[in-house]
Amino acid sequence: MTNLMNFSDILEMSKDKNKKLYEICELLEAENTEISVEEIRNKTGVILEAMKSAIKSGLESDEKSTSGMCGDDCARLISMYKNSKSLFSVLHQKILTYSLATIEQNARMGKIAACPTAGSCGIVPSVIIAVSEELKTNKDREIDALITAGLIGKIVSNKLALAGAVAGCQSECGVAAAMAAAAIVELYDGTNIQIINAAALTLKNIMGLVCDPVAGLVEIPCVKRNAFLSIYAVVGAELALAGIESVIPIDEIVDAMKQVGEMMSPKLKESSEAGLATTPTGLKITEELIQKWNN
Ligand code: SF4
Repeated sequence: MTNLMNFSDILEMSKDKNKKLYEICELLEAENTEISVEEIRNKTGVILEAMKSAIKSGLESDEKSTSGMCGDDCARLISMYKNSKSLFSVLHQKILTYSLATIEQNARMGKIAACPTAGSCGIVPSVIIAVSEELKTNKDREIDALITAGLIGKIVSNKLALAGAVAGCQSECGVAAAMAAAAIVELYDGTNIQIINAAALTLKNIMGLVCDPVAGLVEIPCVKRNAFLSIYAVVGAELALAGIESVIPIDEIVDAMKQVGEMMSPKLKESSEAGLATTPTGLKITEELIQKWNN
């Protein structure tokens, strides 16, 4: 897809051609890569299977990561749900557990699909798979949703590097949440405008999120952040499906995120020199890990 493409262009194109956003994305991708739409969908299906496999493995494990900082939160949640104690619907429970299952697999060095990054890998798969199960939809629709999510990530990435080291966590988990919100709207047969609004509302409200991982590992706060932002995506989708629009157009929101990312101190961009990483507890954990790994 051309790097000049922004959200207003793509909406205009979808209107002219009377197609859904995922269909426009497939056509542009086919044109640029010279592979057929069918092959693009097949490749997307392979990624989808990797996501499902990560969820399955994660749901079956309570193994801690090498650091010992995480790995058993998903199991804890499942155990609570078995006892029927929950504020959430079954759909929300699934989203939370699928999200934690995936990101904990990442922390264990298991196989995941980065979406858009490894640190945010739980958000998009959790909503696509859980919502698809809820709607009893088929793989084709899951692929439509994943391509929709990919389109959002791709267009944002034309302006904003999707890396905590460049623009903070707003560009990793924040963008993943926007991608996920868009995917949910697609699964619920929302309009193209609603898809873009879901992404816009989500991005707008996550702006400025810093990247401050304890000991430089993608574990604290990353693991629990995936769970939080998966649910956050549901809020973005719900508002958009109700017809609620973002007053600030999405292209302007991405420009603002870029500006905020540039203004963010390097200490809050994956260097672990501020924020949670330098709290007394964060520093204590870091010191203990250094000692453990030096012995
Ligand atoms: S806090 Fe940093 S390392 Fe963790 S998920 Fe966010 S961007 Fe990635």
